[in-house]
Amino acid sequence: MANTIPVRVGISQCLLGDNVRYDGGHKHDSVLIETLGRHVEWVPVCPEVEVGLGTPREPMHLVGDPQAPRLVTLNTGVDHTDVMHRFAQKRVRELEALNLSGFVFKSASPSCGIREVSLFTTQSVETRDSIGLFARAFMEHFPEMPVEDESRLHDPQAVKDFLERVLAYRRSRN
Ligand code: SF4
Repeated sequence: MANTIPVRVGISQCLLGDNVRYDGGHKHDSVLIETLGRHVEWVPVCPEVEVGLGTPREPMHLVGDPQAPRLVTLNTGVDHTDVMHRFAQKRVRELEALNLSGFVFKSASPSCGIREVSLFTTQSVETRDSIGLFARAFMEHFPEMPVEDESRLHDPQAVKDFLERVLAYRRSRN
């Protein structure tokens, strides 16, 4: 019998066009939504809004150790690391119940970026070798689940490849 449960893929909510960014705007990705979006049911997550930081909010960046960075606001230096860690642990357990088969993250975000996220070392040197806090918790919780960021899903072959990985993951779980 055909599997009638939709293929659910998580997504950083700003990519859907919702005004959840720190500046009150969004990062609607029409290419992604029109291509991959035809095949999946999106499950939106905005870690920074869901953790209670509101919109608009002071922007943040990562500082310290690339493997264990702190999430700190740019101007006033408020450290949101611990609250984001607690939120992420709880949220990934909730997402587990939704049977996701993949996740598309917003690139370069200190919360959602899955690679090459900007980080300032304790000597104030900028590197691009960290991972957003929520994305890290997600990938640790679901080590086999296909994840990608929107910047790599703008050509048809990349979308096709990602969708195939998503469907293969889903089959492996059924
Ligand atoms: S990148 Fe992540 S935390 Fe930032 S606005 Fe988008 S969904 Fe929210």
